[in-house]
Amino acid sequence: MIVAGNWKMNTDLVTARTLARDIVDAIADPGRVTVVLCPPFISLHAVSEVIRNAPVDLGAQNVHHEESGAFTGEISAPMLRSVGCRYVIIGHSERRQYFQESDELIHRKIQTALSYELRPILCVGETLDERKAGREEEVVRRQLSGALQDVVIRDPDHLVIAYEPVWAIGTGETATPEQAQAMHAFIRKCLDDILDASLARATKILYGGSVKPDNASELFENEDVDGGLIGGASLKAADFATIVRAAQ
Ligand code: PEP
Repeated sequence: MIVAGNWKMNTDLVTARTLARDIVDAIADPGRVTVVLCPPFISLHAVSEVIRNAPVDLGAQNVHHEESGAFTGEISAPMLRSVGCRYVIIGHSERRQYFQESDELIHRKIQTALSYELRPILCVGETLDERKAGREEEVVRRQLSGALQDVVIRDPDHLVIAYEPVWAIGTGETATPEQAQAMHAFIRKCLDDILDASLARATKILYGGSVKPDNASELFENEDVDGGLIGGASLKAADFATIVRAAQ
């Protein structure tokens, strides 16, 4: 199981450090759960220092697809590696929606991340209109094949998928455990088609979208749900720690 906290554009240097410390204290021993914190870029280094001896990994929220050059304001994969990142969120719905990230761009980011041994947490998910129109599987399949076509994954641990229905992100509305399980099983089937059977079986598929302490267990106990990508609730150490315990 993996539980990753996406802090989005929240916290400053001081509050990020405090939040990371509080989370480390609150989770103490996560057992076999991999815990990943994804603070804003400016706090990556400080958080990496706080978690140095803790069973917690560091992730970034985005990466540029080129490794260096004239891309003012952007952050590259080698830069993320240099501050200790092991994971990077790619294709979050907020990036797709507000920054017009296409499947093609996301594909390039995945390739770059992998070549720098950063593990992508690839986000996929349909909007409310797409679900109402019964198009959720078509949309998720297109996002997966756009991002992963011709990508070589050598180890299932090198890639993480996060199913995040857009209508459930930050809305307080959560997919039912049945909806989550059905889509996760479908994602595994797509991975079988796009990658191969062994990767499809072993790749971790996280659920994201208003996961809270009181609904985490019922989501995590589904066969194809391998943890969660947590937004709002990852900003409260006690809530995040409760969600980590639910994954244990
Ligand atoms: C997210 O943005 O990745 C997310 C899951 O947010 P929230 O938990 O706040 O819905």
